[in-house]
Amino acid sequence: MFSKILVANRGEIALRVIRAAREMGIPTVAVHSTADTDAMHVRMADEAVCIGPPPGVESYLSIPSIISACEITGAQAIHPGYGFLSENAGFAQIIEDHDLVFIGPTAEHIRIMGDKIAAKRAMKELGVPCVPGSDGSVPNLHVAEALCGEIGFPVIIKATAGGGGRGMKVASGPEDLEKAFATARAEAKAAFANDEVYLEKYLSTPRHIEIQIFGDGKGNAVHLGERDCSLQRRHQKVLEEAPGPCISNEERGKIGEICANAAKNINYSGAGTVEFLYENGEFFFIEMNTRLQVEHPVTEAILGVDLVQEQIRVAGGLPMSFSQDGLCISGHAIEVRINAEKVPGFSPCPGRISQYHAPGGLGVRMDSALYGGYAIPPYYDSLIAKLIVHAQDRTAALARLDRALDELIVDGVDTTVPLHKALLREPDIRSGEYNIHWLEKWLESNL
Ligand code: ADP
Repeated sequence: MFSKILVANRGEIALRVIRAAREMGIPTVAVHSTADTDAMHVRMADEAVCIGPPPGVESYLSIPSIISACEITGAQAIHPGYGFLSENAGFAQIIEDHDLVFIGPTAEHIRIMGDKIAAKRAMKELGVPCVPGSDGSVPNLHVAEALCGEIGFPVIIKATAGGGGRGMKVASGPEDLEKAFATARAEAKAAFANDEVYLEKYLSTPRHIEIQIFGDGKGNAVHLGERDCSLQRRHQKVLEEAPGPCISNEERGKIGEICANAAKNINYSGAGTVEFLYENGEFFFIEMNTRLQVEHPVTEAILGVDLVQEQIRVAGGLPMSFSQDGLCISGHAIEVRINAEKVPGFSPCPGRISQYHAPGGLGVRMDSALYGGYAIPPYYDSLIAKLIVHAQDRTAALARLDRALDELIVDGVDTTVPLHKALLREPDIRSGEYNIHWLEKWLESNL
C-alpha cells in the first residue's frame, strides 16, 4: 500500500480523502493556494505545500506545481477528488509517466469518456442504451434537418466538449432549429474553444438516474445501484437520493448489470458513474463520469461502503473488498448541497463565517470544510457543505433531513439552506414525483 498520498483538491472533498486515508494509516499531503492557507484541509493533512496564487489555473489546476509537491514530499499517489484535474487525461498520463499513481481510472478511459461522442459510441457498442440521435458530430444545418426528419422534434443540440450544462440548446420544432444550432455552436466555441456539436432526441419529462460502478482494472466490476439526481437548477444537481424513488429492484438489477458488464469489458479501474435520463421505464445513456461524484455519500450510506478507501485500495493493487452478491441496500439516503449563495438569483456569497454548528445524531453526516471564523474565499465553487441523512425509509429520511437542517447554523453568509427547507414542504418532493424540470418551474413561481 502507499506510504503517502497527495490530495490535489480543496474543500470538503479534500477532507473526505484525508479522512479515508487516515483510517487506512496512510499519511497525506495537502496542496493549497495562497487563498487557502487557513483552510481546513491544510490543517487536517499531515503535510501541506503551497502551490500558487488564488486563481485555480495557477494553483489547483497547475500540473507542474502538483507534480513538484509530490516529488518534494515523497508522495506516491495522487487523489484528484472531483472537479479541477479529476477528469484531465493529460494529468493522469503525466502522473503515470512520473512513476506515480493516479487514484482513478487510466488516462485512456478518461480520454474516451471525456469526449461525449466517443463515449456514446463506446457505450452503444457495449450494449448500453443511448438517447436516439446523431452518430457523431453534426457538421451543418442541412445534416441536422435531415436527422430531425428521422427522429422527430423536440431535439437538443449539445457541445461535444460540453460540461456543466453549457452549450446545450433545445429546438421544439423545425422553426427553432436554425437558431438553436447556431447558438449551441457559438456557446460551445466560447466555452470550450470547440464548436463541434451533436444532436439528440430531447426527452421532455425524464428523471436523471445514474448508476455507480466500480472496477478493479483486472476485469472485475460491480454496480452499486442508482442515485436519483433529478432536482436540478441549470443542469446542476441540488438534491440527490438513493435508492431512486421510482426504480424497481428488477430495473436496478437489469441496468446495473449492463453497466457492470460494460466496466468489466473495458477493464475499468476505480469509481465511475454512468448517467442516464429515465423516462417511461426506459434508460437512455447521456454521459459517463470517470471520477468520484459529489453525491457519492448517498450510495455509501445505503450500502455501508467507503468508496474513497476502495479507490485507494484498488489503485494500490489490492482486490475490491466487496462483491456484487455482498452488496445489499439498506434504507434510504438523501443529500442536499449547501452553497454560499444569495437566493433568489443564486449569486455566490463568499465571506467570513461568524458562527458554525454542524447537525448531528443518528444517520446524519456533514461533509464540510467550514469552521467558525473561516473566511470563504471568492475564487472557487460555492459548495460549502453536503448534508447527508440515512434512515430506514424515504419518509423517515425526509423527516431526519428536516430536523438536521433545523440544527445547522451557518452565520455570516447567505446559504441555500432556506431553499432546501422550502423544498421539503412541497408535496411533489415528499411523494418523490419530480423530474429534471420540476425545480426550474418551481423556482419561477416561488422565488
Ligand atoms: P453536461 O456534461 O454539460 O452536464 P449532460 O449531457 O450530462 O451535460 O446533460 C446535463 C443535463 O442536461 C442532464 O442532466 C439533463 O438535465 C439535460 N439533458 C441532456 N441531454 C438531454 C436530452 N437528450 N433530453 C433532455 N434533457 C437532456
